[in-house]
Amino acid sequence: MLKASFYTLGCRLNQAETALISSTFTDGGYEIVPFNESADVCVINSCTVTEHADAKCRQLVRQVLKRNPQTYVAVVGCYSQTSSEALKKVDGIDLIIGTQEKLKVLQHIDEPSKTPQPKIVRDTVDRKSFTIDIKDPKIKTTRANIKIQDGCDFMCSFCVIPFARGRARSRAFWDIQREAIDLASQGFKELVITGVNIGTYQFEGKSFLDVLKMLLSIPGLERIRISSIEPTTIPYELLDIMADNEKLCPHLHIPLQSGCDKTLSAMKRKYNVKEYMEFIDAAYKKIPNIMLATDIIVGFPGETQTDFAQTCATFRDSPLTYVHVFSFSQRDKTAAGRLPDKIDPRTKKQRSKELHVLSDQKKQKFYEQSLGQTVRLLVENQSHNGHWQGFSDNYIKIAVDIPGIKKNDLINVQLKEVLDDVVYATNGDF
Ligand code: SF4
Repeated sequence: MLKASFYTLGCRLNQAETALISSTFTDGGYEIVPFNESADVCVINSCTVTEHADAKCRQLVRQVLKRNPQTYVAVVGCYSQTSSEALKKVDGIDLIIGTQEKLKVLQHIDEPSKTPQPKIVRDTVDRKSFTIDIKDPKIKTTRANIKIQDGCDFMCSFCVIPFARGRARSRAFWDIQREAIDLASQGFKELVITGVNIGTYQFEGKSFLDVLKMLLSIPGLERIRISSIEPTTIPYELLDIMADNEKLCPHLHIPLQSGCDKTLSAMKRKYNVKEYMEFIDAAYKKIPNIMLATDIIVGFPGETQTDFAQTCATFRDSPLTYVHVFSFSQRDKTAAGRLPDKIDPRTKKQRSKELHVLSDQKKQKFYEQSLGQTVRLLVENQSHNGHWQGFSDNYIKIAVDIPGIKKNDLINVQLKEVLDDVVYATNGDF
């Protein structure tokens, strides 16, 4: 039996797509092995959001070939779409597939044997709505990602995603429903809605809220989680649904990118700090236990120390709980890539560190304020010390030592103690 291994770089959407690609290999008679084992075929699902992601992809190719020089290497996805010529120069790659055909990678492998030159499949990305024709995907995680949308039309000045994934397009409503019912019947209790810009979902008059309401109505699904969603695309009605329906997790990840209006404008974001905060404050007022998270880029060209201090203050004084910090990365295709006043790497590193510290403090405070509460835990995996771990509805990372529980159990636990970024809990039914 031929063996295939996979590696995913980048976002949750890439993770969802790797699961789909992996299913096609299982159906094609391959045995799926861990990435660190020798395989006949290795698929790297790439990311190109930062220079670091590009470099990591090239390093992974070398790593695979060091383990087994005969492994057939396919690099698919965003980096392949934007930089196929650069990838062509990396020794040992056999297949380079861009965004349009990435889910069909197996169909492009005639025979998994090394080739002198890579085959390049890099079509223009469709604008049309789409379906995903992979039945019964073999998802190994407890929470299943469900892709509803792809691409983006917003053209933020720093972002290469519209070049890598193409323009915004939505998955057929009925196709999402079909997969969600299927996942529920397989026993999945939580679905995470994924896409590039999910709030812009549009299919035959159906909006993002219609998708959400449809998913909430499917019997068997206990939790629906929204992944990252753009600030200007979220209707306030979402907060009413979240407040009234315990299936919809009180957890939103809303990218702020900067807490300074001058920088937001240079980033070509569609809101100012005041507008963003109005929504965040409304969310917090309506759903006091909500976990609100964000992304912030540090070291955007022209960002002064005062601008950065303003960003820190905006984050610190808001109900936001934690931030994913990104250091600005020069992407040549983007408008920001051509801006003057680049920030030096040392300053970026220092700003990133400061924001990380602030984020850790705020998260710790949120966790401490939650102690004593009884929350629902979806049990995901067992750590090396035997404790089971998972997340609450509002995304608190929890560890428990309760006899008899198992993966995919949804149980009530009482939060007891914060230790190293995890909240320890006991059985909440007593
Ligand atoms: S909204 Fe902006 S940051 Fe997000 S994918 Fe679109 S262009 Fe990129």
